[in-house]
Amino acid sequence: MTSGRPLSRRLVVALAIAAATVACSPTPAPSTLEPLESDEALRLAALTDLDQRVARVAWSLSEANAALCPTVRLSAGWALHSARQYSPALRPHAEARFGLRGDLPGVIAAPSGSPADTAGFRTGDVLLAVAGAPLSAGEATGPAEWEGLEANIRAIDAALAQGAATFTVQRGHDRLDLAVQPRRACGYEVQLDPSDELNARADGRRLFISTALAGFAQSDDELAVILGHELAHHVLRHRPWNDRGGVARRANDGAWRAEGGSGGAEQQADRVGLYLAARAGYDPTVAAPFWRRFGASNWRVRFPQIGHASAGARAAALETVQHEIEARRRAGGELLP
Ligand SMILES: [Zn+2]
Repeated sequence: MTSGRPLSRRLVVALAIAAATVACSPTPAPSTLEPLESDEALRLAALTDLDQRVARVAWSLSEANAALCPTVRLSAGWALHSARQYSPALRPHAEARFGLRGDLPGVIAAPSGSPADTAGFRTGDVLLAVAGAPLSAGEATGPAEWEGLEANIRAIDAALAQGAATFTVQRGHDRLDLAVQPRRACGYEVQLDPSDELNARADGRRLFISTALAGFAQSDDELAVILGHELAHHVLRHRPWNDRGGVARRANDGAWRAEGGSGGAEQQADRVGLYLAARAGYDPTVAAPFWRRFGASNWRVRFPQIGHASAGARAAALETVQHEIEARRRAGGELLP
């Protein structure tokens, strides 16, 4: 994960690619959560907290499962954001809280144990240059925009792809150089979408989780169940579908059954996803209760959805997978789905 993208910038991304994503979670249902505080600073703080939780779990899943992912990259494991990605209403708070300026990437999360953490990066660090090449600050004003940050992230990823890289960092009034040794991780990004819909989806390169769904997860273990399911679509090379007739979905299901699998692509993503979460050290026993609680809070998912069984049936199926994982652990074998 190289970027956390709160707010408008991510909303733009989400809308732009919504038509090309796997409609992965059940039909979006109205959130049962209280709306975020109207006060902008509190709203930013709540989003930052969610961003950091998502970054932490996404990094763990990505690194632990690199051997299973079809694409890998060398990653610092951090989540980055920029002032410019925030709406003009939230931007002054983001600038004040994180020292952000224009398109310059700021560290919103350096998950514990990640290369960024090991290198000494902290939330609030602003990256000024990589390998001596300045990153672009762009324009400080104007509507929310993310292209400038994206360009900076591409430059950073290119440097990390070569191995160890030194960054010039602004930390408060200090300027320092920090060298990061990136590690192999799954080659896709996880992003938090500002949305009241309980939803997650993947587009083959990126994985999106709504703020409502991330907030519904009460622990990192539950968050790993959700993100593991989405990562499983990537591991299983499922195609995104956006067709009304479900052609791509049937192709996914057909390809899976042709290889001897049972159930559909979504059921398989549930199964493989729980393995991915367990391989990253998360507790697989939370999956079934999570789906039951989700079903109890959202009447829509008590019934089967397109591509999905009902929440109750998913929970029962996940219990079977959980027992399978526990048996393999007892036998001392590798946790391969
Ligand atoms: Zn799915």
